[in-house]
Amino acid sequence: MKFLVSIMLLFCLQACSQTQQPIKSTSMENSTAKTNPYYSRTDRTLLTVSNDEWKKILSPDLYAVSREAATERPHTGKYNQFDEKGEYYCAVCGNHLFRSDAKFSSTCGWPSFFEADKEGVIYKRDTSHGMERIEVLCKRCASHLGHVFNDGPEPTGVRFCMNSISLDFVGDSEKK
Ligand SMILES: [Zn+2]
Repeated sequence: MKFLVSIMLLFCLQACSQTQQPIKSTSMENSTAKTNPYYSRTDRTLLTVSNDEWKKILSPDLYAVSREAATERPHTGKYNQFDEKGEYYCAVCGNHLFRSDAKFSSTCGWPSFFEADKEGVIYKRDTSHGMERIEVLCKRCASHLGHVFNDGPEPTGVRFCMNSISLDFVGDSEKK
């Protein structure tokens, strides 16, 4: 009997020691937003901030995508498979970019939208990597967001292929 108790105790101790601390749930908002003096979801004044300045403010990953046009690995972004109702803002400056109604399931591995806020984005021809593409940038801060292609669904027929890290999502239930 004593043996059984000590065995059970041993199992319990083992189980307890293996219990890991739960990972603190992170907010859907980009964590740099709070320490970013240029971030605003209401101010649409165009920003002219140098990359040296952005480098001090943004996380290295967001800086690489938004200011150096890097692309996050496919199927890794937090908004790739995500269908909550709400609004998407620029993670760098807070400018409104997309409404969830325009998001659609795409197999490409990045969050995809068939329509952008016309006041939210601008376009630029991109011939890098030996390809002819149209780059999508935030209208307010000129940060790289992704590319737009002509293979999207109705009603527009276009596909905005975005980097999750460039987006800040605010759910309808969070809006005040
Ligand atoms: Zn922006």
